[in-house]
Amino acid sequence: MPTPIVDIGVNLMHRSFHQDREQVVERALENQVSPLIITGTSLRNSQDAARYASRYPGKLYATAGVHPHDAKSCTEDTITKLRQLAAQQQVVAIGECGLDYNRDFSPRDVQRKWFAEQIRLAQDLDMPLFLHEREAFTDFTAILKEHDVRHAVVHCFTGSYAELKAYLDLGYHIGITGWICDERRGKHLRDLVRIIPLDRLMIETDAPFLTPRDLKEKPAEGRNEPAFLPHILNAVARCIGKPADEIAQATTETAKAFFRI
Ligand SMILES: [Zn+2]
Repeated sequence: MPTPIVDIGVNLMHRSFHQDREQVVERALENQVSPLIITGTSLRNSQDAARYASRYPGKLYATAGVHPHDAKSCTEDTITKLRQLAAQQQVVAIGECGLDYNRDFSPRDVQRKWFAEQIRLAQDLDMPLFLHEREAFTDFTAILKEHDVRHAVVHCFTGSYAELKAYLDLGYHIGITGWICDERRGKHLRDLVRIIPLDRLMIETDAPFLTPRDLKEKPAEGRNEPAFLPHILNAVARCIGKPADEIAQATTETAKAFFRI
């Protein structure tokens, strides 16, 4: 029996799972992918995630937060409602939150304001942060340093050596996705993953996005799902040069300690 592995980032409330969400969870569990941490990306989506997670105690957890794309929808009331949500025991982190200057779906100053508000919420509640950063490294780290953030994971890391080094120096955890399975785009990540200490490394599918490009059987409509996490684990283990089971045990232990589950 392989060691169960934790998928720290699944967008399980995404509409592409509306038809078969239960089967997706079942397939994950059959593949020893457990627990799953459902990513909350807006207030509404975080509420849905918490409600759904409550149906699978110990197997599903959720984060509560607002993605930078949705920062423009935030008000003080959003933070009040996230705070209420975070009191539920299956809610284990604040996020995903951060900055995304790649798409700029919300104005940058608005993104910064609500990122900072969510950081303060996490600190107030003594909860970990689930962070998203795209093309915003300088402002992102400045805000985190300003708030002296310690307990955080930078999810879906695809950045440079200097950025990775900076996050590790700040004490952060790193989430690695199926991006690493891409021979071309993921090349630099394959080398970088080796310098992440195992007690800082966690793995995630970011499903339904980022389907590993080298899956033998292509999923319908190219949709990613948590059952594919063992594939990502194997890629990470190959890059690091250690047996997959050792990486499974280490990342599971790291994820459980980080999210306190
Ligand atoms: Zn993200």
